[in-house]
Amino acid sequence: MARADLHIDLDAITANWRALDAASGASVQTGAVVKADAYGLGAVKVARALLDAGARRFFVAQAEEGAELRQAIGEGPEIYVFGGHMAGDGDMIGNLRLVPMLNSVEQLTRHFEALPGAPFGVQLDTGMNRLGMEPAEWAAVRDIVLPAGPELVMSHLACADEPDHPMNARQLKTFRQMTDGVGAPRSLSATGGILLGPDYHFALTRPGIGLYGGRPFADARPVVRLSLPVIQIRDLQPGETVGYGNSWTAQAPTRIATLSAGYADGITRHLSNQVDLWHGDTRCPLRGRVSMDLLTVDITHLGAQSVQYLDLLGPDQGVDDLADIAGTIGYEILTQLGPRYARHYAGQGA
Ligand SMILES: *Cc1c(COP(=O)(O)O)cnc(C)c1O
Repeated sequence: MARADLHIDLDAITANWRALDAASGASVQTGAVVKADAYGLGAVKVARALLDAGARRFFVAQAEEGAELRQAIGEGPEIYVFGGHMAGDGDMIGNLRLVPMLNSVEQLTRHFEALPGAPFGVQLDTGMNRLGMEPAEWAAVRDIVLPAGPELVMSHLACADEPDHPMNARQLKTFRQMTDGVGAPRSLSATGGILLGPDYHFALTRPGIGLYGGRPFADARPVVRLSLPVIQIRDLQPGETVGYGNSWTAQAPTRIATLSAGYADGITRHLSNQVDLWHGDTRCPLRGRVSMDLLTVDITHLGAQSVQYLDLLGPDQGVDDLADIAGTIGYEILTQLGPRYARHYAGQGA
């Protein structure tokens, strides 16, 4: 088969959730962010494994994601929607008991009119200027909103992956000013905020990337291995070139393996001539440009060994290593992993 294999370790995800849960006090609940199909790893599988581990509060970006998740995990757990209540979402939110995090007076009005008495949360902007009500807006409506009993009042940190950034303390202060005394459960922290310490934890945390093995959770267990099958192997003479644009030229006799995966699978073209793949513990440099469906890799030094697969992600090269080479972040590496990979799950819930 020319299908590459994406191995996903559900036990590593639940171990990461438990470790992040243990990083906050016993009175703090730990949710799980499974937006964008659990950062590309499969929201249904991931959420079911986390349910078994004890997670009861899940976060998605859009109501449609919440609807799919509700069908997979059943009635009990809470599903919060960061995007709030958009026009057209009323049936999904009402019928599937999703909790929209209402971001504006417009969303508040829409929700109270369409679904009076239905659960909701409130998202506040403490300086990121992305989602949520601003201090003045919140001050104008809080006395109407609070008696309706929000399930959660939350905000989001812009710089939590930089512990020394003054923005963290600034947002914490603003969040306190906006929410001290509200009575409803509060939430401020994603993965980075959990690691900033107890001042940032409030009632509920919302880790995402840390569950999936990414920075800033440095102690995370790696979650993914990506193995690409070799379609063909050929020997080049000095002076021969590899791939589109002749961007690599053999200086010596070279053996090139052609692998089945490319930029259509989320292996960005920025990695052309930049990245290594791995045969066990041995590095094999990518030669030439990344194509849509193919990579060309130097395996000269592997000699007569049988080479059927090379790993792009694995124990020697994690998502953040790859992100550093590609000039992006682990989040983007994970969420770009394409639909063509055969996803193999290992561990409890696989
Ligand atoms: C994506 C997101 C999270 C999770 O963030 P991580 O950095 O992946 O832990 C939490 N809260 C909000 C509002 C988000 O958008």
